[in-house]
Amino acid sequence: MKNLIEDFKNFIKKKGLKYTSEREEVLREILEVEDHFDVDTLYFRLKNKNSKISKASIYRTLPLLIEAGYIQEVYKQAGHSYYEVTFNKLPHLHFICISCGRVDEVMDPRLNQLIKEHEQEKNYKLLSYHLEIFGICSNCKEALK
Ligand SMILES: [Zn+2]
Ligand SMILES: [Zn+2]
Repeated sequence: MKNLIEDFKNFIKKKGLKYTSEREEVLREILEVEDHFDVDTLYFRLKNKNSKISKASIYRTLPLLIEAGYIQEVYKQAGHSYYEVTFNKLPHLHFICISCGRVDEVMDPRLNQLIKEHEQEKNYKLLSYHLEIFGICSNCKEALK
């Protein structure tokens, strides 16, 4: 955890940007979120902790966290993006219902195995992945009957 924050600090400095307490607040909060999140989620979580952070600061920090490889955009819903933390997390699928927007994660060790095999075979260094499958969830399928 401490290293992650140090690394982020260095990353920001290397880019010639100022490392601010707001940026660190956003990162610390993200490290505690377990589910997918959007800007509002972070904003309200921080507000509940009496943070004075603005939504604009969060919007400005997220692209840096993506670039640094800490988070990735998982899906878009009603025009805004949802993210998740990427490090310490194995590749997994997102089943996304196009009708209600529900997202189910599929964790399966075979997926990681498969990606690893192909990564080696093609001699790639894996940076990020985006595994989305769109469909209609069981509830919505029921409602359509
Ligand atoms: Zn649905
Ligand atoms: Zn996910």
